[in-house]
Amino acid sequence: MREVGHFIGGKHVAGTSGRTAEIFQPMDGTVQGRVALATPNEVRAAIANAKAAQPAWAATNPQRRARVLRKFLDLVEAEYDSLAELLAREHGKTIPDAKGDIQRGLEVVEVCLGSAHMLKGEFTDNAGTGIDVYSMRQPLGVVAGITPFNFPAMIPLWKAGPAIASGNAFILKPSERDPGVPMRLAELFIEAGLPAGIFNVVNGDKEAVDTILDDPDIKAVGFVGSTPIAQYIYSRATANGKRAQCFGGAKNHMIIMPDADMDQTVDALIGAGYGSAGERCMAISVAVPVGKDTADRLVERLIPRVESLKVGPSTDMTADYGPVVTQQALDRIKGYVDLGVKEGAKLVVDGRGFKMQGYENGYYMGGCLFDHVTPDMRIYKEEIFGPVLGIVRADTYEDAIRLPNEHEYGNGVAIFTRDGDAARDFASRVQVGMVGINVPIPVPIAYYTFGGWKGSGFGDLNQHGPDAFRFYTKTKTVTSRWPSGVKNGAEFVIPTMK
Ligand code: NAD
Repeated sequence: MREVGHFIGGKHVAGTSGRTAEIFQPMDGTVQGRVALATPNEVRAAIANAKAAQPAWAATNPQRRARVLRKFLDLVEAEYDSLAELLAREHGKTIPDAKGDIQRGLEVVEVCLGSAHMLKGEFTDNAGTGIDVYSMRQPLGVVAGITPFNFPAMIPLWKAGPAIASGNAFILKPSERDPGVPMRLAELFIEAGLPAGIFNVVNGDKEAVDTILDDPDIKAVGFVGSTPIAQYIYSRATANGKRAQCFGGAKNHMIIMPDADMDQTVDALIGAGYGSAGERCMAISVAVPVGKDTADRLVERLIPRVESLKVGPSTDMTADYGPVVTQQALDRIKGYVDLGVKEGAKLVVDGRGFKMQGYENGYYMGGCLFDHVTPDMRIYKEEIFGPVLGIVRADTYEDAIRLPNEHEYGNGVAIFTRDGDAARDFASRVQVGMVGINVPIPVPIAYYTFGGWKGSGFGDLNQHGPDAFRFYTKTKTVTSRWPSGVKNGAEFVIPTMK
């Protein structure tokens, strides 16, 4: 039985609260470890440690800081396979999918190698006679990241990379479901030469999170998780005067126009709807075919593909997807499928009864497909976060675009069409933060920014890309005049007016 504590000041520290959470192995339902849940005092100790370490790190020039990240990238790449397996065994996703989780995190760290450029200020020579104006970006101090279970490598790195590259110390509170990879990343940061205290990990639940939200030494909080918690964290962090960017849940639509290439569309829907058992915030959970003929052709082709999805244990390299994260998640997803049937949607593929031979206690769920879902149903309005795809039939393009525009969430959306005019109109008018045109999961590349709209994101700056460096730094603007400008006695007019 593994015992996971905290990582503070460059070393593992055992938990003292006596409170723990079980770490499951979703593929067989066994308990593989226990993770400590921090007390407020343990969190405060991590913050104090980070606060003491941060000034020296901020004073280290940005290229030297980037060199540490470069070494870190090499170390992570050298143990890609074992990290991916650790991740898959705690989360449930397959090993190839776990590698993608790590890869998308590393891509943001790669962009951080050029952080010296992102941290440059502005300069205006002679803004007034003898007056120069310049701005600088300075780190905030100690910042925190609170992250979800579904990307235990990617999201911590999306936050830690830019925060650390900008000269901050970073406290990570990862998901209590899968803390193994974040703890190993902490060790690798130290091995790469990051000073102790610049990346601390405190494991815990609401108690740890609330301590972070209330501590005056935490200057910014980045959160990713479900919408009610995102909203809560945003309100409490900002009420305490902190910067906050909090990303929440999703209900991503894919509009299928009558002229779409149906082979490409079906492949895209199968991957985006069922990959990672639907436990992705950018998964497609609603397909919107336009016109009856499009809908009928789509459903006819989707049914055999959903029925033949290969569900397998996380270590099966050929499985399409693995188990979901916990028994509780499995029960919730099955409950939504029961509800959809009650609400009157037509369940054309029912994966509720799926059992994985040899892994009977694992949290497996076969793919489910609903046809004739309508916008008033809860299975349409709420995030299911499982291998369940719903089809909402639309008569026209205008009916189709209204669906994502009026939905509470606005994370990702896609349109499949051969018509450039329709695609352009869609990209311009849709009220969603990330848009795919014949791309089902439009996660922006690391040097662009990632963020949803409406109930999917609270705060005004996105994750990674240029926004991340704005979020993790504060701007100071200096107006300077040297002696030649003050030799003529007192000034009584605004200098720039001269
Ligand atoms: P979650 O909201 O349950 O947990 C996220 C984090 O918040 C965890 O670290 C957890 O310990 C903490 N937390 C949970 N309850 C809390 C409480 N009452 N008070 C304070 N902290 C609390 O989310 P999850 O189940 O880990 O992740 C899945 C959710 O994350 C889905 O809704 C998914 O859409 C969303 N997600 C969003 C994005 C995005 O970029 N928008 C990305 C990935 C996941």
